[in-house]
Amino acid sequence: MTVLRKNLIDGEWLGEAGSRNINPSNTDDVVGEYASAGPEEAKQAIAAAKAAFPAWSRSGPLARHAVLKKTSDEIMARKDEIGRSLAREEGKTLAEGVGETIRAAQIFDFFAGETLRLTGELVPSVRPGVGVEMTRDGVGIVGIITPWNFPIAIPAWKIAPALAYGNTIVFKPAELVPESAWTIVDILHRAGLPKGVLNLVMGKGSVVGQAMLDSPDVNAISFTGSVGTGKRVAEASVEHMRKFQLEMGGKNPLVVLDDADLAVAVDCTVNGAYFSTGQRCTASSRLIVTEGIHDRFVEAVKERLDKLVIGDALDAKTQIGPVVDQTQLKQDEDYIAIGRQEGAELAFGGERLERETPGFYLRPALFTGATNAMRISREEIFGPVANVIRVKDYDEALTVANDTPFGLTSGICTTSLKHATHFKRNSEAGMVMVNLPTAGVDFHVPFGGRKGSSYGPREQGRYAMEFYTTVKTAYTFAG
Ligand code: NAD
Repeated sequence: MTVLRKNLIDGEWLGEAGSRNINPSNTDDVVGEYASAGPEEAKQAIAAAKAAFPAWSRSGPLARHAVLKKTSDEIMARKDEIGRSLAREEGKTLAEGVGETIRAAQIFDFFAGETLRLTGELVPSVRPGVGVEMTRDGVGIVGIITPWNFPIAIPAWKIAPALAYGNTIVFKPAELVPESAWTIVDILHRAGLPKGVLNLVMGKGSVVGQAMLDSPDVNAISFTGSVGTGKRVAEASVEHMRKFQLEMGGKNPLVVLDDADLAVAVDCTVNGAYFSTGQRCTASSRLIVTEGIHDRFVEAVKERLDKLVIGDALDAKTQIGPVVDQTQLKQDEDYIAIGRQEGAELAFGGERLERETPGFYLRPALFTGATNAMRISREEIFGPVANVIRVKDYDEALTVANDTPFGLTSGICTTSLKHATHFKRNSEAGMVMVNLPTAGVDFHVPFGGRKGSSYGPREQGRYAMEFYTTVKTAYTFAG
């Protein structure tokens, strides 16, 4: 028996059954039934957020702290149950699902603290007797549009700062993961948010997301997803002169130099390229390897891939879960075919796997002999597929690493302080890792990229304030 999850509009749970989602590890398992909002519901949600903004924006730090702290505490207390539900819905492993849930709790806790730390500045004016104050206000009604691959952490890292800084929200999660979105909204609602402050509109991006983009009443949009949708968000936002922030794709390089510790390089590769089934914007999909270590590295990675347990996300022994759905599986397989046509050698995996239950299982794929000009090196695949690009030396590795339209993360495995330091300074990515996987970041520091990966201020940590607030400069003449 599945329970119908409804949309939250102006403090009321509303809507009829409109969609179902299935477990990618077992397509016979229906996870739940969900209301599907249309343009009318989007309008109502925006109107509710608009009506709630004046009171919430003046509510003060204590009210906001209470809701965010209570939310963090409940998520943490229910981490195993929520993590399991996330794994069932999205296909990441139990450990990854629970880890992501803990991270969401930490984010709410961090921003609960931030409500009490908001400060302004007071400076003397250049005019005698005049004081100047700089303060920060919420930006207003924020539209939050999220992807499927981090169904609880990404909503958390947008919703928590939006609320902490006094904004009201219309939240549209990805179609594939409504259960995680509903759960987080339910917890926030019960934690005591006034009606209209947070509205949930589950439904199609082209319908309910588009209605948010087209509304002149949405003052800011925080979007994470594909480049194509990001461009639509940008165009519509410019049209309405609204603030917007985009986090999009990646084609992240991991450089492995001759002097690398081989075990570290293999760990970084297997984690960065294949964990979460490679479905991370921070995944290392280009492995740029110098000649002296190339063959040993490829053999060692293949050996590790061969030992990985690929299977049902809900089985505690599983290390790599299924691909999220049929469409993504087809995209992965299409790119594997493209790589072969382009002349890269499929050195490992890439084939579908049968398991006890019907699911979207794919063996992690490793290409060798790839060049940086191939489509598999330039376009985001978003699956468990990585390619090795052989280079002569560090200088060539850096050039190849930076030769991409994206710039989210990058990594280098080396024991040379000189090369590590040079790479940190010269890599054209928003986040750089030395002897660490390109995926996996802290929750209290800025997250974001350069070039085609990101647009607008950074997310997370104190830097999130830049997007979710607007500065006011006030002058007072006291006589
Ligand atoms: P997507 O662009 O298909 O969808 C993202 C969201 O946009 C969904 O909620 C979708 O319903 C909505 N949407 C679709 N059409 C819309 C429209 N016309 N108007 C408004 N909203 C619309 O992306 P996805 O497939 O869910 O996610 C995968 C992508 O997300 C990958 O490219 C990945 O790299 C990226 N991603 C980036 C980051 C990052 O921080 N850089 C993090 C995670 C995922």
